[in-house]
Amino acid sequence: MPYRSPVSELRFILDKVVPLAPVAETELFAEATGETVEAILTEAGRLCDEVMAPLLRNGDLHPARLENGVVRSSPGFKEAYGQIAEGGWVAISGPQEFGGMGLPMTMTVAVNDMMSGANLALQLNPLLTQGQIEALEHHASDEIKELYLPKLISGEWSGTMNLTEPQAGSDVGALRSKAEPMGDGTYAVTGQKIFISWGDSDVTANVCHLVLARLPDAAPGTKGISLFMVPKYIPDANGNPGVANSLKVVSLEHKMGLHGSPTCVMSFEGATGWMVGEPGKGMAAMFTMMNNARLNVGVQGIGVAEAAYQKALEYAQERVQFAPIIQHADVRRMLAEMKAEVFAARTIAMACAVALDMSRATGEADWEARAALLTPIAKAYGTDVGMWVAEQGVQVHGGMGFIEETGAAQFYRDVRVTAIYEGTNGIQAMDLVGRKMMDEGRAAFRLLQEIEDEAKAAREALPDLAEDVWQATESLREHTEWMLGQGTQDRFAGAVPYLRAFARVLGAHYHLRAALAEGGASGRAKLAAVYIRRLLPQYAAALAEAKEGAEGLYALSVEELSA
Ligand SMILES: Cc1cc2nc3c(=O)[nH]c(=O)nc-3n(C[C@H](O)[C@H](O)[C@H](O)COP(=O)(O)OP(=O)(O)OC[C@H]3O[C@@H](n4cnc5c(N)ncnc54)[C@H](O)[C@@H]3O)c2cc1C
Repeated sequence: MPYRSPVSELRFILDKVVPLAPVAETELFAEATGETVEAILTEAGRLCDEVMAPLLRNGDLHPARLENGVVRSSPGFKEAYGQIAEGGWVAISGPQEFGGMGLPMTMTVAVNDMMSGANLALQLNPLLTQGQIEALEHHASDEIKELYLPKLISGEWSGTMNLTEPQAGSDVGALRSKAEPMGDGTYAVTGQKIFISWGDSDVTANVCHLVLARLPDAAPGTKGISLFMVPKYIPDANGNPGVANSLKVVSLEHKMGLHGSPTCVMSFEGATGWMVGEPGKGMAAMFTMMNNARLNVGVQGIGVAEAAYQKALEYAQERVQFAPIIQHADVRRMLAEMKAEVFAARTIAMACAVALDMSRATGEADWEARAALLTPIAKAYGTDVGMWVAEQGVQVHGGMGFIEETGAAQFYRDVRVTAIYEGTNGIQAMDLVGRKMMDEGRAAFRLLQEIEDEAKAAREALPDLAEDVWQATESLREHTEWMLGQGTQDRFAGAVPYLRAFARVLGAHYHLRAALAEGGASGRAKLAAVYIRRLLPQYAAALAEAKEGAEGLYALSVEELSA
């Protein structure tokens, strides 16, 4: 059975578990009614199932190629992208004044989830454009907005983000690309960028690069970084692609997976650029793009996990070893845990998106802090789940999982990068225990209190599950209090296990809600029990690891590590 977009699952979540209703009650998002949601999910689901998913293997077997300096996309990608753009799917949350639908980010997340499951490499193209639209909306001059936003929103042009350089990966502040003012409002941008996703392609008429670079007198580190719009073709007086800019794709990376997405080494050679935002404020502007992308990269992991689960479930029913393998306890365990993980990660991402929308619609600081807190968790846990479920998917297939023709391995290879790009999951975890706790943990404690209150209220209906959720939340609260008294190095040493424990508690919370919504004897309650009884207990081991701090790690010297 081919991939089927999880339309009804998303509807259930938005109805009962992470309700979209409060978002639709705001003036800004009044159009996000139940009917709109239904129409969006159904139509996007059809595009995913019928157009994008059938090309998944093409992207893997026939990667994008560099031919005479131009990137040729995988067979079928150009036509499929055309349908994505034509249907208005590139940017459904784009501002209405520039041709977008102005729908909530939650709807974008739902559509991105389905598209990532259908074809991750192709979906990465609109994902980057979405981030660029948001960055321009918030930081660009009116002139740039008027010129670029309509083309990006319609999908006629695509957007990229150019941060990484050979010496500047996680340490973006080490970047060396330069921007010289030309005296006419433009800048000459020079430098080499690596790993630029969809840095060129034949699917759009223009490729708009947002490039981080330094002005001549800029301060060292991130403070000296500015942001520039550097289009592949400089728009002419009518706003159409004009002369070619001084930039080129030097080469394409040979990757472990995600072959359908061209990953480019870019050379900017005095290319004409326009500053976006203020001098020296490039990182802040880029962060708008990165925050959007971080949540949506988490969603990429979830989409791939869904597709990998569907494939494994089908195989487990067909493959007979003594009996259909789905009848064996260990295979049952894998499938039940895969499904439970996908639900948990999906609801956390949705909760983050709803918080973003509420923050935007109400301007309330509490919503903003909630979204900021959930973003690194949604990114890291969504992609961890993507990797884990895809890996279990290979295992369910046995030897056939290791054979490329089944497609199980492609999910595993494709999704691996999602834990690396947009800030590695280690960097996300450091963000959670660092910047996101600079409010002395207020946003975290508020959320944990809500979870405890709900768990208490659920004690009558689902006593065992509710008690486990309450207990885990209480432990996490105590650990958070303890952690806030520790130094940076100790916090960072425990950041990844802390984030995982937090995600476990959140996942359990949303499973409990789903179980309550459908009643104790429902499939939802049984799935919640799988998560809460089998997976939630991992929080305790994670917190024990987090509490160990840094000392023991550094006690083991580099020489001893090398012995
Ligand atoms: C397929 C692909 C597509 C990409 N697309 C883009 C793109 O479109 N645009 C773009 O600009 N970039 C892109 N990237 C780059 C990506 O964002 C970086 O690879 C990523 O940020 C990590 O940087 P790095 O590879 O230099 O790893 P490094 O920064 O060298 O990290 C190596 C390891 O060290 C850890 N580490 C580094 N610093 C710290 C620290 N301070 N504390 C703790 N741990 C640390 C990391 O977590 C990681 O585990 C892409 C990468 C890939 C592979």
